[in-house]
Parts: sequence; C-alpha cells; structure tokens
Amino acid sequence: MAASSLADISERCHKIAQSYLQIKEPSSPIIRETQDAIKLTQRLVLNDIFPRWSPFNGEISFSYNGGKDCQVLLIIYLGCLWEYYKSNTNLKQFPLDTLKAVFIDQYQTFHTLEQFVEFTKKRYYLSLYESDRNHNKSLSMPEAFHRYLVDHPETKAIVVGIRYADPFAQDLKPIQRTDEGWPDFLRLQPLLHWKLSCIWSFLLYSGEPICGIYGVGFSSLGDISHTLPNPHLSKKKALPLFYEWEISHRGKGVVNCSPLSSQDSHFQNDEYFPGWYLLDDSLERCGRVKKHKS
Ligand code: ATP
Repeated sequence: MAASSLADISERCHKIAQSYLQIKEPSSPIIRETQDAIKLTQRLVLNDIFPRWSPFNGEISFSYNGGKDCQVLLIIYLGCLWEYYKSNTNLKQFPLDTLKAVFIDQYQTFHTLEQFVEFTKKRYYLSLYESDRNHNKSLSMPEAFHRYLVDHPETKAIVVGIRYADPFAQDLKPIQRTDEGWPDFLRLQPLLHWKLSCIWSFLLYSGEPICGIYGVGFSSLGDISHTLPNPHLSKKKALPLFYEWEISHRGKGVVNCSPLSSQDSHFQNDEYFPGWYLLDDSLERCGRVKKHKS
C-alpha cells in the first residue's frame, strides 16, 4: 500500500531497516555483512551528517536516479530521518512534506528508468528537481549540478549513493568536497562500504519496487547506448540465486520489478538472469560498452 505522507514512508523505511537488523535466522555471511553495512551507514547519517547539516532546513539534497544503490541509500536515509525526528523532543510533528532531491536526466537514460523515477518520486515523497528533460539533456553532470545549485542556493551538501566498487571511487571519503571542475558543495557518501551482494540482499528483502531494467539481465544502469545485459548473467551457464530467503520472507516470493516501457520492451529476453544473480562487484559493469572517441 502506498504511504500517505513523507512521515509515513520514513517510518516504514525505518521499520524495514530495523527488521533487517533483527534477522537472526538464516545467519548467512551476506546477511551479517549487510547488517554491519546498514549500521555503519546509519551511524554516518545520524552522528556525522545530521548534526552538521540539518535534514529539515533544505541544506541537504539527495541525488537520485532510480538506480539500486541510491534506492538502498534512500530507504536507509528516510529511516534515519524518522529516527532523528523521533529523537528530537522539540518537534511536535514531522517537519517535512517532501524530501529535496535532484535527478540529472540525460539523453541516454533508459525510458523505464525515467518512468521508475517518476513512480518513486511519488512513492518516497521526493520534491525532485529534474534537469530540463527537453532542452538540456546533453549537459555534463557538473554543468547540470551547477544549474541545480543556482536554482537551489541554500543547498550545502548532496547525498550520493556511490560505492567503493564504482570506478574512481576507491579513495573517496564519506564526507568530502567536490573535485576541481565541479560546482562547490559537500558530497555525503555514506554507502561507500557496501558490497553488491549487500545491496541486493537488502533491496530484495525490503520488498520495495525496483527498476524493471534489472530484471532483464542488467546489473548496473549506464547510458542506454553503452549498456548491454551483463554477459556474466548469461543463462548459458547455470547461476545460483543467493537471495531466495530475502525474496520469499514476505510470503510473496516474487521480485517487484517495475514494468518495462514500450521503448524498452525489446530488452525482454529469456537469455539472461536478472541483475541480482551477480555476486562479484568487479563484474558489475561488464555490460558497459566502451565509448569510442569521435
Ligand atoms: P547502478 O550502479 O545500478 O546504476 P546507481 O545508479 O544507484 O545504481 P551509480 O550509477 O553508481 O549507482 O551512481 C552512483 C550515485 O550517483 C547514485 O546512487 C546517485 O546518488 C548518483 N547519480 C548517478 N547518476 C545520477 C543522475 N543522473 N542524477 C542524479 N544522481 C545521480
């Protein structure tokens, strides 16, 4: 059932994270590792981020593109928002109606992903800035964020769902300024330490809808003209499903994938396992085709 407010969805996300933390059986290494990962992310958000930048006055924004990593972070972040609110005895009621977020919509985005962003914008009560879909889709990321900050000058820090396994991310820190060539803001990166297997274990356990592109052999969503199903998910070789328990614990036993848009229907296939069959972080981007310099 859809939540009726940001307070409602934040409380629900809090329950999801807390119930994951309470899992005792089965006691798999992936579940234990994910529990540690959740606890560290919650500590970073509640102890290091919220006391420095209030989540209630517009200083923080959330960078969201509908991908699995930022969705995991969004669920945990909303749960922290609920906990922070509950621990603040001065607040008589939940102080926000929407969560400030930013989506840079680029030319080559999967249409299904765009639809999923629209759907989750409502589900998670995001007040989502979407870079101009019709005119400025070819802007670079730094240019697009520059425009965002011009429109929202009160923003001091932006939450990003990047992980150490992502390209050029090995040396990142949970809180750091943007690099040269980017507009100046603080990047809040409390998901760095998450492994791919932890992302899937938590997301599939949550029962939350996920972007349908993951269901047809994609493990990471790059731009549409340079992303193919991941060859390591080919059904030519049998792969085990590691998250049977996570998927079935709510009694439904199915993953809630968003529908493929008509533009993306040609991706439907029976040759690839879904993205969550991939365990190895180093293979996550093997569906990405190298861009040729023109
Ligand atoms: P996946 O790896 O499956 O595509 P993801 O999109 O969440 O999942 P990345 O592509 O690695 O992860 O991107 C890292 C983070 O950068 C995202 O979680 C999100 O916070 C931010 N980000 C990436 N692309 C955009 C975008 N177009 N607009 C806003 N934020 C973005």
